[in-house]
Amino acid sequence: MMSGHFRVRAVGLLAGAGLLATAACGSGTAETASAGDKPRVVAAFYPLQWLAERVGGADIDVSVLTAPGVEPHDLELGAQQIADLEDATLSVYIKGIQPAVDDALGQQGDRAFDAATAVKTLPAPEHAGEEEAHEHEVSYDPHLWLDPFRLATVAGKLGERMAQADPAHAQAYKDRAAKTAADLTALDQEMAKGLTNCTSKTMVTSHEAFGYLADRYKLKQVGITLDPESEPSPARIAEVAKLANAEKVTTIFTEALVSPKVAEVLAQEVHAKTAVLDPLEGKPGNGDYLSQMRQNLKTLQTALGCA
Ligand SMILES: [Zn+2]
Repeated sequence: MMSGHFRVRAVGLLAGAGLLATAACGSGTAETASAGDKPRVVAAFYPLQWLAERVGGADIDVSVLTAPGVEPHDLELGAQQIADLEDATLSVYIKGIQPAVDDALGQQGDRAFDAATAVKTLPAPEHAGEEEAHEHEVSYDPHLWLDPFRLATVAGKLGERMAQADPAHAQAYKDRAAKTAADLTALDQEMAKGLTNCTSKTMVTSHEAFGYLADRYKLKQVGITLDPESEPSPARIAEVAKLANAEKVTTIFTEALVSPKVAEVLAQEVHAKTAVLDPLEGKPGNGDYLSQMRQNLKTLQTALGCA
């Protein structure tokens, strides 16, 4: 199992980071002086970065661990990133997406906010007869940001956490959290309405990222793989092809950060098209979380034949 390997490596880096951080303090660099101005919030990957920027506004500095264009699952952390996490006023993550981040933040107590603790989670997806590439450390599906309604709840909780961390701006955090939650609730209503009358309810996706979206809007997700790094077995591809044919699926969905090859082969086999359905695990090329989710809604409406 690979997660053990990642865990060991992260701990090794952590030990190294401690030494580096000590050295940096001793030499009294200019960096530490400028860092004191505003609370620093580190977000693990894009949707949490977007949320932190919306709720924190100009009162905080936000940085993100996962660079744009990088698939966040199983991100490995460099020494500087671990040092940033240790220095941050608040870190925002979702336990179960990135084992190295989970390990680095496990000891942070109040200074780390696990968004999965703010909402009711769904069980982790399973494929019969298929072993996961990485042993999950959590029993739930961590892709909760793909339900805007749940993300609205996370926004409110994040506002409270920022208010605790920086009481001088407490009201501003709470106000921006409320505005963000209202925007997410409006999106949720649009999606609920837009996905009510559809010819098909089945979405065939690249990896199992859309469980919360499917749950919220009464769709059925069939992910080709459990996580983005794993190759599907021939048996799994045959199983998905059979299902896609039976349910007259018109479109196989691909993702921006994962190779579309398998989805393209499958689409050919079942005479379907492909279309990008963005799980927002990275920053979208254009716009932000809200606009990309609206784009996802349009893509779904076309693919599923929604009135
Ligand atoms: Zn994922």
